[in-house]
Amino acid sequence: MMAEKETIYTIDILIQKILDGEKQYDLSKIISAYEFAENAHRGQTRSSGAPYITHPLAVAFILLELGMDTDTICSAILHDVVEDTGATLEELKKRFGQDVAMLVDGVTKLGKIPLFTKEEQQAENVRKILLAMSQDIRVIIIKLCDRLHNMRTLSHRPPEKQLATALETMNIYAPIAHRLGIRAVKEELEDLAFRYLDPFAYDEIESLLEKRKEEREAFIESIKERIAVRLEGAGFSQNPQIDGRVKSIYGIYKKMYINKRDFDEIYDKYAVRIIVSTVIECYNALGIIHDMFRPIPNRFKDYISTPKPNMYQSLHTTVIGREGIPFEVQIRTWDMHFTAEYGIAAHWKYKEGVRGKDKLDSRLAWIRQIIEAQQETDDVEEIVRTIKSDLAPEDVFAFTPKGDMISLPMGSTVIDFAYAIHTQVGHKMVGAKVDGKLQSLDYKIHTGEIVEIITSKDPNHGPNRAWLEIAKTNEAKAKIRAWFKKECREENIVKGKQDLEREFRRNQIRIPEEDLEHFLADDMKRHHCETLDDYYAAIGYGGIVLSKIMQRLKDSYVKQYVEAPLSPTSTPQKRTTSADGIVVEGIDNCLIKFAQCCNPLPGDEIIGFITRGHGVSVHKKDCVNYLNAIKNGSEPERWINVYWASNQNKTYKATLDIVSYDRNGLLADVATVLSEMRIFIHESKSRELKNGNANIVLTISIGGIEQLNNIIARLKKINGVISVDRTGK
Ligand code: MN
Repeated sequence: MMAEKETIYTIDILIQKILDGEKQYDLSKIISAYEFAENAHRGQTRSSGAPYITHPLAVAFILLELGMDTDTICSAILHDVVEDTGATLEELKKRFGQDVAMLVDGVTKLGKIPLFTKEEQQAENVRKILLAMSQDIRVIIIKLCDRLHNMRTLSHRPPEKQLATALETMNIYAPIAHRLGIRAVKEELEDLAFRYLDPFAYDEIESLLEKRKEEREAFIESIKERIAVRLEGAGFSQNPQIDGRVKSIYGIYKKMYINKRDFDEIYDKYAVRIIVSTVIECYNALGIIHDMFRPIPNRFKDYISTPKPNMYQSLHTTVIGREGIPFEVQIRTWDMHFTAEYGIAAHWKYKEGVRGKDKLDSRLAWIRQIIEAQQETDDVEEIVRTIKSDLAPEDVFAFTPKGDMISLPMGSTVIDFAYAIHTQVGHKMVGAKVDGKLQSLDYKIHTGEIVEIITSKDPNHGPNRAWLEIAKTNEAKAKIRAWFKKECREENIVKGKQDLEREFRRNQIRIPEEDLEHFLADDMKRHHCETLDDYYAAIGYGGIVLSKIMQRLKDSYVKQYVEAPLSPTSTPQKRTTSADGIVVEGIDNCLIKFAQCCNPLPGDEIIGFITRGHGVSVHKKDCVNYLNAIKNGSEPERWINVYWASNQNKTYKATLDIVSYDRNGLLADVATVLSEMRIFIHESKSRELKNGNANIVLTISIGGIEQLNNIIARLKKINGVISVDRTGK
């Protein structure tokens, strides 16, 4: 987003920028600030030889790009006059008001705090910065932009200055920009600092990026195109915006360094971003993306239901296209997008009203927490630790013995690691080795460690309730809780039996009841199941994955039963199939419509009504209109038998009514389940019921009643859900 480096800024460029934008500014106040600063700095030059006023103007320009307000822009223009010229704060206060004087004072004081010093001193100084931030956050935003422009023009400074400034930028300012969520500023600060700290690596990555630039751009273009075609007409309320980009140089470097991977092996150098209108549409888009491209396991992250500490929200997934090139897809709403790009500055850029104020407050809460924590303790080391861990990148990166990287939030344990690999790895975990050494389950993982999870062979082995206290990530906790929920063996047996029977039907496997145990004996042994119920239970909770065993069962079925003659299941009868998947007894090719009153779905028992001139309208057999018509005996001759034709690919709309205990992330959990099942959501409405419970009404596309029952069963398992019902219309 930032303009090219080393542009010479003038007041005209600034005014043009203001006039081009939609936001209202007090132009005369800004011009008068300019005249004051220009006069004060007259005769001063920068190291580059440019007039000094170009620097404050450049800082003001960056702040304009962030959408900051008039007083911030004026303060940016005036930010060096007290420090570097004869102007006083009193004068500023008289001419430009209390706010501008206070902001300039804050920036001036911040500039005097030496940052790159001994650790204790550094902590104390960072504390001063935070204190300034807590008084008015605009102070630090101005300071960040001041630093950004100084970094852009750093080449004119002496080499020893360059290194010190770059270090300070990397260690203090970039992490603060990250914490405040101002992505563009953070990335540019990092890239610029990195260029001075490790010029060799910077040049290498830059030239590697340059080398296949056309190839890469063509690749991103074709991916964007294909996604756009699929999303169009998929029922989104407005066409989603699709952007493609290459990650920042420092971002790539970190991945190369942390993963010890070659440039070519880095998965998510390319990122495609999809911006849609609603949260539900995010999950719909995710379902479509996973349908189009092969998702890389364990790379899906739901930062919508679990936002990052800096309020960042998006869905992230890494997928592989036909070309075999992996790329990351980020899906978010416009609101999330503004927060992701501008962070705390979005508060000024987009008048967000009451909600915006909440967001600002929760961002500032972080700063207040640190300051309060510091007031409670005199232990300097403790203070240093708090600040360091809070400013440090919030992720640790560890590896499986095969070298796959798993990234987890700071403080994650080996339990989190196990669940991040796979749910079943977590459930079956009995211990862990870190860098070859056995560690306890509450061991906290550090970046660069190789973690090997030791699992039990017993299919019924499960987690321990104490793990809920040890695990750090919500993902692991949710999976552990889900296990205990599923622990109910009886339920699992019923579900496993149903699932297996369904797969058998789908694969046309017909085994007489009395033969079943014998037929499954081999597979039961393979999965350490002693009884048929054990086997069903394992299928029910997911310990045995049907899609993995079906081919083997099919083969053995063909071997054992293929000669056995199958009895014909249906009596030949003249039926006509219409395009809607409905067979009307005795009538060829007639117009079919589904009654609006009861919306029948495949699998429902149905009956047809011969309308006057509009073909046959299909009702459910328990539809009140049908029942009333029969009771009243009106036109009984018009009711006619109809059937569902088999093998149809049509989808139907169904509406579900969900009642749940109200909690955060409920809608996201519902949407995740549906997205995993590749179910498209047409509409969703949520409201709070009088008793405090939440009510979500969803309209979805489904293939038939069997699928609908599966969906309802899955939704009912979501934490807090009380009931899921299909509604009449
Ligand atoms: Mn400055």
